Amino acid sequence: MKNVAVIGAGTMGNGIAHTFAQFNYKVQLIDVSQAALDKGIATIGRNLDRMVTKEKITEADKERTLGNITTYTSLEEGVEYAGLVVEAATENIDLKLKIFTDLDKFCPDDTILASNTSSISITQIAAVTSRPEMVIGMHFMNPVPIMKLVEIIKGYNTSDDTYNTVADISKQLNKVPVEVNDYPGFVANRILMPMINEAIETLYNGVAGVQEIDTVMKLGMAHPMGPLQLADFIGLDVCLSILNVMYDGFKNPKYAPCPLLVNMVMAGKLGIKSGEGFYDYSESRKAEKVSRMFA
Ligand code: NAD
Repeated sequence: MKNVAVIGAGTMGNGIAHTFAQFNYKVQLIDVSQAALDKGIATIGRNLDRMVTKEKITEADKERTLGNITTYTSLEEGVEYAGLVVEAATENIDLKLKIFTDLDKFCPDDTILASNTSSISITQIAAVTSRPEMVIGMHFMNPVPIMKLVEIIKGYNTSDDTYNTVADISKQLNKVPVEVNDYPGFVANRILMPMINEAIETLYNGVAGVQEIDTVMKLGMAHPMGPLQLADFIGLDVCLSILNVMYDGFKNPKYAPCPLLVNMVMAGKLGIKSGEGFYDYSESRKAEKVSRMFA
């Protein structure tokens, strides 16, 4: 399998395309927006330049990687020869169901269809196709070229053959595949999001300040980033939406999002991407200044 189509050229899509191309796959990178494709290719170029500077790859590796990627705005043309599709479009259930309905129509019969979704059920996505045994979750972590984990999610009908193929491909990308079943939050977010939510609850209850909470987790638990900084990095809207998926899916109050998180999202304070969350990013993206709301 040498042709991989990647749907979506945003944060995750360009990282996924970069990684496959670096390991000699021919990548068809597809997005509805030409501007997103241009931005995605520019980001891949910059990330490859950084790897060249750090002497992790050569200039020739960079050129070969970029040469392995072709861009498309048409799904039908982009997936024509794909052995595997990795969908990394915007996290929206109706959008994903439409994309997988189209993929099932346009891809060859033996194409494996994977989604990088953080929270949508693989079983539900698979159900709109005529090949649910060939639909699987391939949950890469951000930044994709650097992070080792691929959480591989088996839907209710995913076959062992499909799992084994996708696990082997992940190893070829120098990643570590981990097998997970399809329940809300999978494993990564089921454990991470309650921790982030509890950190927000701890702030909300006045137990400690933003920097104090993050310092405890960094220095006490050896986390590279504190949970509040990590929430700002992921996006507070994304954290809220994943918590809501788990709250709805399990009907268990332990996943109920903290009212402070809900308020911040309603106020448009989404973290790094909006310029303010628990920290203020107007001068630096490094989480050095606590937001005036918590200072
Ligand atoms: P993003 O907003 O950065 O990029 C999404 C891209 O999808 C955009 O470029 C958009 O133009 C494109 N798109 C929208 N509709 C499309 C369509 N019909 N066909 C093709 N392209 C389309 O989003 P992201 O952060 O890269 O997230 C993508 C997926 O990855 C989501 O499912 C998300 O849950 C998952 N994910 C994100 C992270 C993260 O840290 N950002 C981590 C793991 C998984």
